[in-house]
Amino acid sequence: MEASPSLLSLNVTDVTRLAQEAVSAQPAKLRVMGVTMGNGDGDYAEVIIDLEDCGKQPCRMSVGVFRNAPEDTVRGEIVKRLERHIREHGA
Ligand SMILES: [Zn+2]
Repeated sequence: MEASPSLLSLNVTDVTRLAQEAVSAQPAKLRVMGVTMGNGDGDYAEVIIDLEDCGKQPCRMSVGVFRNAPEDTVRGEIVKRLERHIREHGA
């Protein structure tokens, strides 16, 4: 059986949706600015998020995720990073 990792990978639309879900679960005002796919490093993607009411303005963070991970893992990773950032910067 041939390995086809791309079949299991999330695409830009999937990652954007998961990021939106992670962001909407936060009380702070956040905006998903975009998702960039890694070059060469096929299963890596970066989510760019602006934190509009972060204590330190202007504030933009990027969260690296692996697109071959389960959706729950990707969403959970983004949530974890957001919560840590908000704690550190004070939203
Ligand atoms: Zn911040």
